[in-house]
Amino acid sequence: MRLLLVEDNVPLADELVAGLKGQGYAVDWLADGRDAAYQGSVEPYDLIILDLGLPGLPGLDVLAQWRGASLATPVLILTARGSWAERIEGLKAGADDYLTKPFHPEELHLRVQALLRRARGLANQPTLQAAGLHLDEQRQCVTQGGVDIQLTAAEFRLLRYFMLHPGQILSKGHLAEHLYDGETERDSNVLEVHVNHLRRKLGRAVIETRRGQGYLFGTGAG
Ligand code: CA
Repeated sequence: MRLLLVEDNVPLADELVAGLKGQGYAVDWLADGRDAAYQGSVEPYDLIILDLGLPGLPGLDVLAQWRGASLATPVLILTARGSWAERIEGLKAGADDYLTKPFHPEELHLRVQALLRRARGLANQPTLQAAGLHLDEQRQCVTQGGVDIQLTAAEFRLLRYFMLHPGQILSKGHLAEHLYDGETERDSNVLEVHVNHLRRKLGRAVIETRRGQGYLFGTGAG
């Protein structure tokens, strides 16, 4: 899953980017509200974390622009401590959730996880479940038939994306856009290698290849 973080406090942004990358998310970071208004509307983010006090354009105006253009991406706003007015204005402008500064990184990670599942119409249970697999996003480990299967960081990122989109044909280009940040070179051969590793670990039937279209996860047709 690919996230946009909009935060002008550089030390905080550095900490959040590192923490989110550690959770297996691809993260783009911007500090300016005008840049965010544009990039958030053209890049296919799965979720946006938006500070409200920003140079260039206030976060509330950025959010209003996105929602005015019918951008449906989940947005979590970061607000100043004690500013209930800011939280209310943010929710009115179309935020899906908020966190009050300062917050513990783990709380951000859990809220991000919950919002991403909610956006896919899934309940926020301890593990993400699809096609007989249970994915523990904290431990970055998958269980199949009661057996724990270890995953590399790249396999975990890919499997989480598949498990959030079961029964949907996903082209390599689409997967690359949602698994890598804007700075990383996107190589579809690498994706193919990770898909093959997942098949070796979980069984071939879990990910089907639709020639010329992409991959289909979780239909079990093989
Ligand atoms: Ca700020």
